[in-house]
Amino acid sequence: MNTQMKIIDSDLSFCCSKRAEFASTIFEKLRFLSLDGPGVSRESYGVGEQKAIDFLIQIAKNEGLIVSFDQAANLIIELPECGEQIPSIFCGSHLDSVPQGGNFDGAAGVIAGLISLIRLKRNGIKTKLPIKLIALRGEESAWFGPCYIGSNSLFGHLTEDDLNSKHRTTGKSLRNYMAKAGANIEKISKGEKLLKISDVAGYIELHIEQGPVMVARNVPVGIVTGLRGNIRYKKIRCLGEAGHSGAVPRWLRHDPVLATSELLHRVDEHWRVLLERGLDLVLTAGIFTTNPVKHAMSRIPGECEFSLEMRSQSIETLEAFDEFLKAEMRSIEREKGVCFNLSPKGLIKPAIMNQNWIEHLSSCCDTLDIEHERLPSGAGHDAAVFANNGIPSAMIFVRNQNGSHNPNEAMEISDFMQGAELLYESLLEPPF
Ligand SMILES: [Zn+2]
Repeated sequence: MNTQMKIIDSDLSFCCSKRAEFASTIFEKLRFLSLDGPGVSRESYGVGEQKAIDFLIQIAKNEGLIVSFDQAANLIIELPECGEQIPSIFCGSHLDSVPQGGNFDGAAGVIAGLISLIRLKRNGIKTKLPIKLIALRGEESAWFGPCYIGSNSLFGHLTEDDLNSKHRTTGKSLRNYMAKAGANIEKISKGEKLLKISDVAGYIELHIEQGPVMVARNVPVGIVTGLRGNIRYKKIRCLGEAGHSGAVPRWLRHDPVLATSELLHRVDEHWRVLLERGLDLVLTAGIFTTNPVKHAMSRIPGECEFSLEMRSQSIETLEAFDEFLKAEMRSIEREKGVCFNLSPKGLIKPAIMNQNWIEHLSSCCDTLDIEHERLPSGAGHDAAVFANNGIPSAMIFVRNQNGSHNPNEAMEISDFMQGAELLYESLLEPPF
């Protein structure tokens, strides 16, 4: 009799080991639902994403949670007694994946939120503010080009160009896919806000870390300080003068490859100095090529092309680095007799996470005895959209092996549970 009571009790209270078991089962079922070659494919506003949504709806309904969709067709799950109470805390992440991606990118945050709601429901616990779990759609740019489709729609920021963008394989428009999923295309294309900002007291997103920092530093949980924005030049051409590699002496050369190498060397050195001063910056020239039609071992190239991307949590750092880059270009142009032509500058603003959230998460970690560190996010997330629209936002990172956007993502369930426990704890009495 006693033993039976114990089992029922622990089932109702949804104890820690049960929660871990539950999470593992959900992740495995989700993987199975969206298997594609070695990874998973949950296409934005498409079949894979919809299967994941349907699966979560089934679990939520079984638990007596209330399920609905907002006007961008994002899934909302909440406790029955929340009704129309405002403002509420939004917690969530996205359910889509890149083609043949990993199972945890995005899904981890939605499942952590679902487990928190189930725990509140089974234990009859009331939070200070109502919690809405939002499973955002279309976070990944891999399917149509634009990213953060579900969250940008909520704030009236999805453009006509975005809506007209074409699916990578079917060629059908995003508009078409969103309409099929039930989104209110009329309002979205007019740029109407679908969410009243004053109705949302805060947003919190748990996500796997997609870089190698937490594994290298051996911490299971991270509190994100900010999401790096970027300045990007997709194509920078350096024009010099083509010539015979044996016949043109050094002093008469206008070699664009050496000029670009010199430029990259100078910006790398400046980057090192900024890091020493404690500033946040990462820099990548992901493309660097001479023209394959013309290039040859024995030819001084006439031109070369490269891309340049700078990312930082600080817009000031980005703008200052951009100025430095252009000053160095002018100096190298004079010294080497070359010319740099830049494609239009792309700018995505950084997003700073809310300090009250950060302190609150730190103290929750202390309460739960969770080892953690504060770190920036190099990758973009929906949290940036919420933060840049004036909603106090936060992110919890969970350690993840083998990077992300690939089938080999490997998050330990014990690490996930520490992140999920932190999420739950932080939702009880959010700092607003
Ligand atoms: Zn993600």
